[in-house]
Amino acid sequence: MPRILLAAAACGLLCPWAAAQDAARLDAMLADVRRMEVDSNDGRGDALMRILEERGVPYAVESFEIEPRADYPRTVGRNIVVTLGADADAGDIVVGAHYDAVWLGDGALSRGAVDNAASSVILVWLAETLSMEPLKHRVRIVFFDMEEIGLVGSREFVRRHADAPIAAAVNLDVNGYGDTVFFGPTASGGNGGVHAAMRQACTEVELECVEFPRYPASDYLSFQRAGVPNVSVSVLPSNEAEEMYAAYNDAAGPGGRGGGVPALFRLIHTARDTSESVDAAAMDTVYRTVLALLRRLDAGVESAP
Ligand SMILES: [Zn+2]
Repeated sequence: MPRILLAAAACGLLCPWAAAQDAARLDAMLADVRRMEVDSNDGRGDALMRILEERGVPYAVESFEIEPRADYPRTVGRNIVVTLGADADAGDIVVGAHYDAVWLGDGALSRGAVDNAASSVILVWLAETLSMEPLKHRVRIVFFDMEEIGLVGSREFVRRHADAPIAAAVNLDVNGYGDTVFFGPTASGGNGGVHAAMRQACTEVELECVEFPRYPASDYLSFQRAGVPNVSVSVLPSNEAEEMYAAYNDAAGPGGRGGGVPALFRLIHTARDTSESVDAAAMDTVYRTVLALLRRLDAGVESAP
C-alpha cells in the first residue's frame, strides 16, 4: 500500500520502533474488546469504565430507569459520557456507540464483540487522542446502554441534553472486521454537511467509503428523530457491505435479495459474535477515519444543510 511505503521511507531507523508501537496498540485494542466479553450488560459497562480509568480518561455515568420488562433483566441503564473541550456557541459534537449486547433466545447474553464492543473500544481510543488536542467544540463521547432493546440509551441522552444544541452526531455500530467503511443514512434529511465531512475524511485516509441511503437501525435514529445532523459508520469486507447495501437499499427491501440473509446477520445476535471475529486492523481503519471526520467537524464544516 502506498501509504505504508511512504511511511517507511520517512521513518528510516525509527521504522522498527514505529511498527512495534503500532502492533502494541492493535494488541491493546483487541485485549480491550476481550475484557468486555462478560456475562451481563452491567459487567460490560463496568469493564468499559475500568478501561477508561486505566487510560486516564474521566467520565460521568448518566443513569436512567425503564419500566420492568418480561424479556429483559434490568430496569436501570447507564450511559457513560466523556466530555472534552469547552461549552461553545457552536454546539456539541456527539460521538457514540452502544456497549450493551443482546440477550439471546436461550437466556444467555451475546458476547457482543463485533456488535458492539469493537466500536466501544474505538471510542476509547478516540477519547484518548482527542483529549490531547485543542477543540473548538465541546465533544461528548458517549457509550450508550440499552440500544438492543430499542435505542433506549441514545434516546435518553438526547432527551436529557435537549437544552444543549448538538451540531453533529456520529454513531459507530458494527466495526469489527473488514476493510470497506460504509456510512449513512444519506437519504435522510439534514445530514448533508456531516456526510460531506465524512466523504472528505474517507479521502484523507485513502478509503473508498460506500454511502448507504438507508442504513440499518442504530442509535443515529435517536438523533435523526430530534433533527440533529448525523452519520452512522460501520466496516465490513466489501462483499458483506454489498449484501448489507442490497438488504437495505434494493427495492426488495430488508433481506429481500434472492431470499438471502447478509452474512453479518448470521454472526451478530448469535453466540458466535466473539472476539475471534474481531480484527484490530479493521478497528484501526475506523479509528483513523472517524478521527479525521471529528477533526473536520470540529473545524466547522457542519454548516451545509
Ligand atoms: Zn449494534
